[in-house]
Amino acid sequence: MRVEHLNCAIMRSPFVGPLPAHALLIHTDEGLVLVDTGYGTADYADPKRRLGPVRALLRPEKDERHTALRQLEAAGYSAADVTHVVLTHLDLDHAGGLSDFPAATVHTTAAEHQAALVAPDFQDKNRYRRQQFEHGPTFFLHDGPGDGWAHGLTGHEVVPGVTLVPMPGHSKGHAAVAVEADGRGLLLHAGDALFDGTSAAIPGVDKKPFLRAFEQVVGDDRAKVKQNHATLARLTGEGVMVIPAHDQQVWESVAPFVLGA
Ligand SMILES: [Zn+2]
Repeated sequence: MRVEHLNCAIMRSPFVGPLPAHALLIHTDEGLVLVDTGYGTADYADPKRRLGPVRALLRPEKDERHTALRQLEAAGYSAADVTHVVLTHLDLDHAGGLSDFPAATVHTTAAEHQAALVAPDFQDKNRYRRQQFEHGPTFFLHDGPGDGWAHGLTGHEVVPGVTLVPMPGHSKGHAAVAVEADGRGLLLHAGDALFDGTSAAIPGVDKKPFLRAFEQVVGDDRAKVKQNHATLARLTGEGVMVIPAHDQQVWESVAPFVLGA
């Protein structure tokens, strides 16, 4: 399948910025599939209400052209062309764009949906932004670890060639998303299971101590975060192209495959 890359935000966060919000656009027989959405047009129209106080820490550049929707439109597509959105998790910098694709089926794990929207604990009440889900997305929830997949992992096939691979740790129901890409083998969008690419031994990137520290602070379960890094490093060694959501150098390395390039 043809896979293109989008950066759906530029976050000017102190010490760790600029951070991209790396998303994927996959051309499938069932229409366009978007992996993560970054922020949406509604987030930029009303950041105070949609993003809350944490926007002061993340500092996304207020520019609608960064949204997945506007980038798709610039490339000649419309919101209706996106039939499925697959989310690594429901944090505000990954799910904010959902309201720009109201007709799409939204795939996430049942555990993430539960933690964010059904029965959030004290911490998660402050973490997720309910305002980003007010439009009532059509969720397809994937429960449990899924079926045996590849590389010793399990997952849920969303459409042929696109698999949601549960990888909790950063959040309670976080998952990675695997895609079989034409001519490039297996890509794994690791979402926020990986902040600094060097934690998964991705070649050609520098160690980012502040980003690593930030990852520890915002992670739900540090032991699982560490375990995920080991798994992802193993996958890198086995030839999988692992993609973190927020590593600027990894983002720059995919330049030839950027949407509209
Ligand atoms: Zn994130």
